[in-house]
Amino acid sequence: MKNNCFERAEILCVGTELLIGDIVNTNAAYLSRRLAAMGVGVYRQAVVGDNPARLAEDVRAALSRADLIIMSGGLGPTYDDLTKETVASVFGRTMEMHEPSLARITQYFEARGRVMTENNKKQAMMPVGATVFDNDYGTAPALALENEKGQVVVMLPGPPRELEPLFRERVEPYLHTRCEAVMFSRNVHIIGMGESMIDAILPHDILESENPTVAPYCATGEVRLRVTARAASISEATALCDAMVEKLKQTPVWPFVYGIDVPSPEAALVAELAARSMTLSVAESCTGGLIAKRLTDIPGCSDVVAGGAVTYQTREKTAVLGVPADLIAREGVVSEAVARAMAEGARKRFDTDVSIATTGYAGPGGGTEKEPVGTVYVAVSAPQGTICTRYAMSSKRDRAYIRELAATYAFSDALGFLRGVADEGAEKS
Ligand code: ATP
Ligand code: MG
Repeated sequence: MKNNCFERAEILCVGTELLIGDIVNTNAAYLSRRLAAMGVGVYRQAVVGDNPARLAEDVRAALSRADLIIMSGGLGPTYDDLTKETVASVFGRTMEMHEPSLARITQYFEARGRVMTENNKKQAMMPVGATVFDNDYGTAPALALENEKGQVVVMLPGPPRELEPLFRERVEPYLHTRCEAVMFSRNVHIIGMGESMIDAILPHDILESENPTVAPYCATGEVRLRVTARAASISEATALCDAMVEKLKQTPVWPFVYGIDVPSPEAALVAELAARSMTLSVAESCTGGLIAKRLTDIPGCSDVVAGGAVTYQTREKTAVLGVPADLIAREGVVSEAVARAMAEGARKRFDTDVSIATTGYAGPGGGTEKEPVGTVYVAVSAPQGTICTRYAMSSKRDRAYIRELAATYAFSDALGFLRGVADEGAEKS
């Protein structure tokens, strides 16, 4: 039966280790993200221990509210793995041997020269009428069970390295075939404008639009606007999303957008520099190499990223980057003048088109009355000149967060400067 796509999904993760805090429920986060990208609303996430009575109770409760239930865990060969059996009993189905799965599991063990024990056969037992998804990443197949009302329960193995590819490669296409409508999303990434400001500034016809919907999400140092459209085909849904992106271009939010559907600000920066055949170097103080780390996390960045220096002590800023000692003495090591001199020094020293520099107080100790913990100067030097921004982050933030944020701001400042939308000398918090 086809329906108009799933309206309400719930995620139910099975495992006592989750309840006692032994493992973190990354499956729920992963599944929620993927479902959200498909435009399926997730209404609840729950965790239940390996206990058939409570599991049955939770499955029944979820079926009383949702039309799609995605479960993880409890598909293994041991006696406490009871997900399939429990869902089958809730659906009033018996279990039967699924011969193709038995053949695959037997072959899996043979190929690895391992002995298959009797209880492994249990992994090939399926509720009558189940749709079985072969597992290329482990032994337990995933499965979906549908009842006469069109409600679907999907069951996936617990290990994330199996669950994630299985969901992406097998379950998502299955869910798509059951929907007349398809969903498509674009993520618009914003740095330098908070969620509440975006909400206040965007016209209401955008925020209240029903197709596509436009929803802001907060992430570290950035806000994402997710534009999601529903249509009969991917091309129609894409066109709806792109028309909304065009509308967003007319709003005051647009100068703060660093990319659409990009993985991170550093990836956007590397792509921008590569497109311009430009090279980049870094001069880091308070970020201690984090900027270089995040840049070099990007595969293929070596065409763009030349190198850099972590000049943590004052002496090294002079020795490596040529920042005049009297300038540091006069202005203070955390100052606009020093940040600019670091960026310009790195550009010269590493002979690159662009350079970014940071100097600041990441805390918890240090800082001055004028420049308290949380103050970071970010400078960008490029052929068209040098800009510097003073960021005043809350001194209550921890060290790791201040450093992470400073790196994110450095990438977005460099992007803004290259694109000609940076506001020179701005003060930001
Ligand atoms: P197995 O065949 O390995 O027993 P299973 O489908 O029965 O698989 P579980 O026994 O529930 O799954 O979990 C196996 C392992 O998978 C756990 O020890 C844990 O490492 C990981 N895991 C299970 N559930 C989750 C979850 N929700 N988030 C992250 N990891 C999980
Ligand atoms: Mg198990």
